[in-house]
Order: sequence, then C-alpha cells, then structure tokens
Amino acid sequence: MLDVLICGAGPVGSFFANLMDQFGHNYRIIDGETPEARHGQSRALLLTARSLEIMEDRGLSGELLSHAVIPRGLRLHSDAKQIAEIEMRDVDSLYGHMTVIPQWRIEDTLQGRLTKKVERPVKLISYVQESDYVVAKLQHGDDEDNVEEVKAKFLVGSDGVHSAVRKGTPGWTFDGVVFQVPFALADVTLTGDKLPDMRYGNFINSKNGVFMMIPLLDRAGEKLITRVVLSLNPVGSPDDKNALTSHDKKEAVSQGIQTGQSITLEQLQEMIDQRSGAFKMKAENPQWLAKFGVNERKANGFRRGRCFIIGDAAHCHSPAGGQGMNLGLQDAYSLAWKISSVLKNAAKNPEELLNSYYDERSPYVDATIDVTGKVARNMVTPTMISDFLRSFVLPLALNVPSLHSKVGYMVQQLYVTIPSNSTLLAKKSASAIIEPGQYMKESGILIPKDTMNTSPQTIRSILRKSDRYIALLVWNHAGDDDASASFWNILKPYERFVRPIVVLSKNNIFRYRVPEYARDSAYAKEGFWCDTKGQLAERLGIEHNHAGIMLIRPDMYVTFSESYDGKQEIPLMSFENYLSSQLNSE
Ligand SMILES: Cc1cc2nc3c(=O)[nH]c(=O)nc-3n(C[C@H](O)[C@H](O)[C@H](O)COP(=O)(O)OP(=O)(O)OC[C@H]3O[C@@H](n4cnc5c(N)ncnc54)[C@H](O)[C@@H]3O)c2cc1C
Repeated sequence: MLDVLICGAGPVGSFFANLMDQFGHNYRIIDGETPEARHGQSRALLLTARSLEIMEDRGLSGELLSHAVIPRGLRLHSDAKQIAEIEMRDVDSLYGHMTVIPQWRIEDTLQGRLTKKVERPVKLISYVQESDYVVAKLQHGDDEDNVEEVKAKFLVGSDGVHSAVRKGTPGWTFDGVVFQVPFALADVTLTGDKLPDMRYGNFINSKNGVFMMIPLLDRAGEKLITRVVLSLNPVGSPDDKNALTSHDKKEAVSQGIQTGQSITLEQLQEMIDQRSGAFKMKAENPQWLAKFGVNERKANGFRRGRCFIIGDAAHCHSPAGGQGMNLGLQDAYSLAWKISSVLKNAAKNPEELLNSYYDERSPYVDATIDVTGKVARNMVTPTMISDFLRSFVLPLALNVPSLHSKVGYMVQQLYVTIPSNSTLLAKKSASAIIEPGQYMKESGILIPKDTMNTSPQTIRSILRKSDRYIALLVWNHAGDDDASASFWNILKPYERFVRPIVVLSKNNIFRYRVPEYARDSAYAKEGFWCDTKGQLAERLGIEHNHAGIMLIRPDMYVTFSESYDGKQEIPLMSFENYLSSQLNSE
C-alpha cells in the first residue's frame, strides 16, 4: 500500500512530492494533463521571500534562483509620471527582493528532483475511504476502460480549482464569489523609444484600465521578455463596487485561464496604446496570449478523514500581489511533515496534528483573499475615489518608511507565523527570546566542535532538509556542561524523531572536541557548534548570561522556546513535558 497518493502535479503537488521523498515515504504522483497541455503557460511569476526561504530549507532555492529575474522593485505611474516606487529591500530576509520565475520553470525544477516520475496523463476519477486507507480509481489516458485501483494511507489533492479530491466527498464545497472583471495576459517583447525602465516591474494607473508589465526570461532562459497584464472592461455600473462581484453562490468556478478564449496581438496593442500615456511601446513576438478569470473561494475545510486538499484545490483569489502559488507551496510545507509524523508513528495525538493543518493555514488564506480582493477591486474601479486613492493616497503611504516595510512584509509573506491559538504551540515564555510560532531565524557562521569532520555553517544550513524536529540549546554565557549533558540525555528516547544541537558561546568552547557523553550518538558530528561571535544568540534574543532552548518543527517554525538565567540551573522539566505531550518516545 502507498503511504500517499498525490493527485495533481502543478507547483504545489510537485513540491509536496519532493517533501515525501525527503521524509522517506512511498508515494505516487499523477496528473491528468499531458506535459504539452501546460507548456508555455506561466501563470504564476513571483516567488515570495518566505517561499524562497522554505525552498532553501529543502535545498531547492539555488536551482530556482538560477532561472530568476530580480527586478529592482515596482514602479507605479500615473500617465507617464512615476508616483511611487516599492523596493521591498528593507525586509529581514536573504530574499527580500522581487523574484520572477515562470511557473513552468518552477514545476520543471521541482519535478526534476523527484525520485519518481509524474505519471501522466492519469486522472483521479473517484475514491472511497476506509478507516485505515483510501481506495482511489485512476484512469490512464482517455481510455475509460483503462482504470486502476490504488490503495494509499493518505490522498492529497493538489489538483487545482476543479479538484476531483474535493468534489469526491459530498458536501466538501468551494464557497465564494466570481469577480466580474476578466483580465488579459501576454508574454511579449516590448520595443520603442519611450519604454518605462524595464529593470523594474511597472504599473500604470490609467482611466482606461490596469496595465502592468513584469520582466521575465523567455523559454530558452536567455532573452528578457515582458509579462503584460491588462484588466478588460468592468461589467456593471462603474460607481457600484459590488457590481464587480457576482454573489450567486451557485455560479460555476471560473478561476484561471479561460480555455478557448484569448485576445489577438492587435487587441493587445490597442489596449497598450490607450493605457500607456506618454510611454510609447510596441508589442511583438507573442509567446502567450490569454484571458483569465478571477474567483475568490475557500473550501469548507481542508481535510476529510484521510483526504486533504492543498493549493488552489483549497483556495483561490485574485493574482494581484502574486500570492496564490506561494500560499499553496506553504500549505504543502505545513501538511507534509504532519502526515509524515503520523506515518512514522511519531505523533502523540495524530488527530490533533492533522487537524492543525487547517487551523494553521486558514487565517492566512482569509487574509490573502481579503487583501488581494481589495487591491483588485481598487485597481479596476473607475470611480473618482479609487483614482484618488491610486494617484495620491497610495504614493503618500508608500513614502512612509514604516508602511513601506509593512507592505514588503505582507507581500513577501514574512508576516506568516503559526497562529498563537494553534494547539501545537507551547505557551509563550516571559522572556524576549524568539517566540513559539516564529519562523527560525538565520545566524552568522558557526564553527563545529568536530572541526576534523565538519565545516563551518550557518544555523539554517545545519538544519537544512531535516526530516525531524530539531532541539536547540543555545548558550550565551560560560555554560554548564552538566546541563548540556542533561539536555542531550532527555532527548535520547525521542532520537528517531528529534535531532539535538548544542551551541556554545565562545566562553565555554574550551576544546574543539565533541563531549564524552555524546560520542556514541549518531548526531555527534553535527551536534555541537560554537557561536564565537554571539550572532545566533543575538538573533534569537537570548540575553548575555542566559541560555535558550527551542524546539523547531521540520517546517522550520519554532514550536517551543524558553530562555533561562545563567545563574540558575536550567529547569528542563517544561521542555520534557512539552516533548512528551507531542511525541511518542521509545
Ligand atoms: C494569470 C495568473 C497569474 C498568476 N500569478 C501568480 C503569481 O505571480 N504568484 C503566485 O503565487 N500565484 C500566481 N497565480 C496563481 C497560481 O498560478 C496558482 O495559485 C497555482 O498554479 C496553484 O498551483 P496548484 O499546484 O495548487 O494547482 P494547479 O497549478 O492548478 O495544478 C493542478 C494540477 O492538477 C492536475 N489535475 C486536475 N485534476 C486532476 C485529476 N482529476 N487527476 C489528476 N490530476 C489532476 C492538473 O492537470 C494540474 O496540473 C497566478 C494565476 C494566474 C491565472
């Protein structure tokens, strides 16, 4: 029997399959389309800083970045006059920049790393759930008689807005509204003497509609082309914002590329001429011309028994701000380790862990639908108030540094934490140390105690590709070997699921050798590090003369953290209690 059947090999399913590989599970990944059907279609373009951080955790960011264009920022224009510039560089991330990578490249990169090939065209047609497994019916190609039955402990639906996994359970609905303004997109070469500076993304606020330009690499990865996005005319009264949304709850899902509908190069040029103000440009060599629709929907739950939905299967919204695929990649990251923990019999309370997937992701889905909806409505509303907001209020707001960096944090998804009401999180400690729920911060270089066999690294590179929790003891004072030994020893019963790491300050290195008590451990070689410049302690908020203990989940979010005054003994009891509340011991 399979551990997991993954239905849908878009970016989200392909990332989930990578995680199943890294966590050591037996999976299959299927997709109903041939590769040709999606070739050349780069719907998503923008990878956020948080998505790149998680790709880095999984050893995937290097290859992805090699296909990226990094615009200097986004310029907003009214007519041809620049009214604001969003740079996003002042956000606390190594990837605090705009990162433009075509979606098909992301899919190719993720699929290229899999140990199993995506099986296509193979589509899920139905399934039934038993108490311990799911039986899925898969159709190979167009032949209705070529149907196979597959048993899997879990079924994960990454099969987009028309999800067969979601539709396969009665009452699993996809509620929301249809946005009545269709959009057009084109991947073209723009030429002319009066082009905006194409080292930036450019957005022109025009009374005739939205006009956006983003630079990206062509299919050969050599030449710069431009993604043009244009709103088509709004339906309904221009003064009535509600007219932009259909509230008919039964209206069919119409999110995404509209098959059989497109625009011509001539229509595109006409719209560009009407919206580009004093800029002048010609669109040539179209690589892709399409129309797309926008829906705002969320499923009424992301889990039914042993079936889960992730990515567009669970939620969809306006592409304004480039959040959708990124949200889905992070769903995959949140769910994969939870399913893995249950499969490995690590989780003390499997039901609580599996249910936490919805509880932890749902607030960010709601926030994204809300914000992207407001932006999209504002962009296409031809009223005087909206025009005033775009032309005057927005530029002023973006000149306020604190608001500017707030926008950066939102757009780059760095505001994402584990919500404080998640049942998985330990209580917040009174001290200023990094809080439970935060994404693990990067450090400066740490030197290994085992200098013979291990090279200096940063904390995030030490934690990379982890398939288990990491327990971290960080000293910011002379340290206490007995306490380090106790920390190491209480983790022994959990050693299949938790990797211990001790980081010493420069005052308690004494010798570059692994301590006696840990020498037999499989974790010894990369288990002891020296924070000689105190940067890790500082980043985590561990004061001088204090120590901190953290438990970090495989998706890099801190789930337990406490700091201790160096004058007292470290009370390991609360850490031990927390471990035993979450994990089975051996
Ligand atoms: C114009 C446009 C621009 C966008 N720009 C951005 C952006 O810049 N940044 C961003 O983050 N997001 C963006 N998005 C959104 C982004 O494209 C989606 O959020 C993303 O594709 C979702 O990925 P997914 O893997 O969940 O689903 P999909 O990409 O839809 O993949 C689903 C897969 O499942 C397969 N499938 C479906 N049914 C079955 C079945 N029964 N059996 C087997 N396989 C099946 C399909 O063939 C498909 O390959 C944009 C969207 C559009 C339309």
